[in-house]
Amino acid sequence: MTISERDKRIIWHPFTQEKTATEAISIKRAAGCYLYDENDKSYLDLISSWWVNLHGHAHPEIAKTIYEQAKLLEHVIFAGFTHEPAVNLCEGLQTLLPQSLCKFFFSDNGSTAVEVALKMAYQYWRNLGAHQKTTFLSFDGGYHGDTFGAMSVGVQSGFHNQFKDLFFSVLSVPYPDTWDDDKEVDVKEQKAIKILQHYLDEHHHKIAAIILEPLIQGASGMRICRPQFIKEIIALVRQNDILVIFDEIMTGFGRTGTYFALEQLAIIPDFLCISKGITGGFLPLALTITNNKIYNAFLGDDFSTAFAHGHSYTANPLACSAAVTSLRLLKNSECQNSIKNLNQMHKKGMESLKLECPRIEKTRIIGTIAAFDLKNSAHLMPSLKQQFFEQGMLLRPLGNTVYLLPPYCITNEEVELVYNKIINIINSL
Ligand code: PMP
Repeated sequence: MTISERDKRIIWHPFTQEKTATEAISIKRAAGCYLYDENDKSYLDLISSWWVNLHGHAHPEIAKTIYEQAKLLEHVIFAGFTHEPAVNLCEGLQTLLPQSLCKFFFSDNGSTAVEVALKMAYQYWRNLGAHQKTTFLSFDGGYHGDTFGAMSVGVQSGFHNQFKDLFFSVLSVPYPDTWDDDKEVDVKEQKAIKILQHYLDEHHHKIAAIILEPLIQGASGMRICRPQFIKEIIALVRQNDILVIFDEIMTGFGRTGTYFALEQLAIIPDFLCISKGITGGFLPLALTITNNKIYNAFLGDDFSTAFAHGHSYTANPLACSAAVTSLRLLKNSECQNSIKNLNQMHKKGMESLKLECPRIEKTRIIGTIAAFDLKNSAHLMPSLKQQFFEQGMLLRPLGNTVYLLPPYCITNEEVELVYNKIINIINSL
């Protein structure tokens, strides 16, 4: 029996309708931007394996770091103990962040980093005696993860409708996503701001925090919004004593062209959630980063005001050391140039797509991410995905959106080839 057949008998896969799903492709090894299956067929990983990989697969320097760390210290409880990889990582990240984001809380996946930010925001107000602040603001289409808090603030994404009755109270603002040559964007933004203003007029005293994916919503279809819109929104909520949570789980570590999207907005959130790219795609790790104002509100003479949250694998040393090496690679001029170059290559590729594929619409690019929609093609998406696989490309359309989010080490020739293949596949539909 093949690995894929054995898998089908025993494994329940994430975000998958097990009844209709085709057999999972068994990947045996990987190198650079390529994954190789059992028959040595290669797949160019154009979605960085769920947006986690930065420098290519099985990167030898990160692999070596993990090996060396494993021989020294594989794990230790993180309450009452610490270790150098954790401290090195936070100090390294601090050099890339606004100075006031100076307190780092570890967890091990994106959902939990969000959960931590929501719980901290909620408890911050309770510790100050503001017990009425129990509601959150979020955006339609926002996706923040699969745990109950994260699902609650992602209520309008529709991913988790089965659990809706168990969600806590959230006010959701329309999200004015935009694209090249969008004529309606001003109207959409004004509508969203009007609704937000209404929420603030009616409920500001009850709202603990706002959560958003800055500049681009990932899971709901790589939906971009204009920076000035976010600036306006944040200015309004801050006038109303509402904390700001930036979910940079997807946008962090160079994806939008800067280390973090917050740089392009010149906004310092009260909480910054990061994960995914943090270890270069090697190991699970996440951080919720906050400021002294929040941190100090949890200080007290007994446990009652402390933050009662922690996981067995908090700040795992292997993951932290991988993250330190990944960060060093990210800061290298070689990687920074690749990020800029990838943006240019997307622009070139998208121009040819626009010229040669009448079926596409709503083209959009931010940093290293490019996306477009296919008109009236919902029924064709499963076969499109299959054809991408057959032609050796790992692409997973979201609804009728096709997007590219490759590791930064992809070459110009590979990007050109990919756009040409996509044009041919779409035109043959
Ligand atoms: N926030 C955002 C913006 C995400 O894209 C995701 C995952 N797609 C999450 C949170 C949840 O992260 P994880 O899957 O690691 O729990």
